[in-house]
Amino acid sequence: MKKIILPLLLISASAIGQSKLRPEIDKRAVAIESKVITWRRDFHQHPELGNQEVRTAKIVADHLRALGMEVTEQVAVTGVVGVLKGGKPGPMVALRADMDALPVTERVDLPFKSTVTTTFAGQQTGVMHACGHDSHTAILMGVAEVLAGMKNQLEGSIKFIFQPAEEGVSDVDMAGAELMVKEGVMKDVDAVFGLHIWAQIEAGKIGYRPGPTMAAVDILGINVLGTQAHGASPWSGVDPVVTSAQIVTGLQTILSRSVNVTQNPAVVSVGAIHGGIRHNIIPEKVEMIGTIRTFGDDQQALVHRRINEIATNIAESAGAKAEVTITKLYPSTVNDEALTAKMIPTLDAAAGKENVVLMDPMTGSEDFSFFQREKPGVFIFLGGMKPGADPLKTPSHHTPDFYLDESGFKLGVRVMSYFVVDYMGMKR
Ligand SMILES: [Zn+2]
Ligand SMILES: [Zn+2]
Repeated sequence: MKKIILPLLLISASAIGQSKLRPEIDKRAVAIESKVITWRRDFHQHPELGNQEVRTAKIVADHLRALGMEVTEQVAVTGVVGVLKGGKPGPMVALRADMDALPVTERVDLPFKSTVTTTFAGQQTGVMHACGHDSHTAILMGVAEVLAGMKNQLEGSIKFIFQPAEEGVSDVDMAGAELMVKEGVMKDVDAVFGLHIWAQIEAGKIGYRPGPTMAAVDILGINVLGTQAHGASPWSGVDPVVTSAQIVTGLQTILSRSVNVTQNPAVVSVGAIHGGIRHNIIPEKVEMIGTIRTFGDDQQALVHRRINEIATNIAESAGAKAEVTITKLYPSTVNDEALTAKMIPTLDAAAGKENVVLMDPMTGSEDFSFFQREKPGVFIFLGGMKPGADPLKTPSHHTPDFYLDESGFKLGVRVMSYFVVDYMGMKR
């Protein structure tokens, strides 16, 4: 009997021990708020595209080193990893922030507006933190300072992961998180936490979802090969235009007839069709490209299989041939169900129960998924919209008018710090 009771007592005693650190975190999070905002404004004014985050990475690395951490630079090109060793033994908790900006020209009139320009894919463009990664970097620098100040009391260690190129560099190059995982960043990690600021959630609130939260993104390509003919005598050829039209319509049945819509949504969109050159020539070939969004590996496999079956069999029925290529970009961002359940009290404590909202699945994607495929992870959304504003009228991420209300940043510092101490308490 004693043998059973004793470990239970130890667990709860230790859990309380680490959660006792919350008031001190609160104090430190308030104290560091203005610094976090200053860092964020500086990053906002000096945005850098994926794998070019040299200035940002240097500021991060200098900061972590000044806090006494072991720092590794140039991880996955421009990434920075800092390890903070707690005073007592325990798990390794990873916290992640992404640092890259986007080829978007800022239209918001701010004193720290970006005026940076570059050439991207052969075009002149502005560079802007139009996804809010500037806030992620600043918030995590704040968390690093808060927890470094309390390190003797921590039962475990923290790995601060500042990753480059979350938005991807090109369709063929690896995203920042994938490359960091390949370089071994997750090997000694027990759990990983991350957040995304969200322009459609009020500052002061947190959104979360257990299980598949954000979609996997894949690029779809279908080439339909027919036989060229005079437009006046279609019977003498095989028309890839009509066949393509049937394929586009056929693809709609994947979501209406093959996917269990009560579980998770999915999206198959054809974004472009190219074929033909003249009104009276039936072309030989039609090319289609599109995007696929799915939630979880099983659904992804199902949707891919149905696309192949529909395209190939419709083409065959017309005497044509369909070549399907699917390029996997990011897997689905899946929050570990058990860990998420354990962390709900943490979210409630950080934001107040009434400010924690269960979110719908999002059809956007995030390369945080690569970290979660290695170790249990939780990814949450932090409110960045002016309280009381209408989310439908608020400019969305990746647009020139994207704007963040900075009053939610201190909650970001608090919740990430709480994740660490609560997880450490739970683990032992
Ligand atoms: Zn983005
Ligand atoms: Zn983003």
